[in-house]
Amino acid sequence: MPIYEYRCNQCGKEFEELVMNDEEHPQCPACGGKDTQRLLSGFALGGEAGAGFGASAPAGGGCGGTGGFT
Ligand SMILES: [Zn+2]
Repeated sequence: MPIYEYRCNQCGKEFEELVMNDEEHPQCPACGGKDTQRLLSGFALGGEAGAGFGASAPAGGGCGGTGGFT
């Protein structure tokens, strides 16, 4: 059975939860909140995982209009 890591968005508590239903959000053991998000293993503290890829485009190759702003 899979064990996922979750983080509570309300209190910031990180915990592991054994999940049967893949879509179910477990309850935070600390504050009891349901506003939890799964931490994807493989992501090394990437930050916001909910925004998805390409949310913050890396600089270099975008709009090159802000040059020489010294
Ligand atoms: Zn919590």
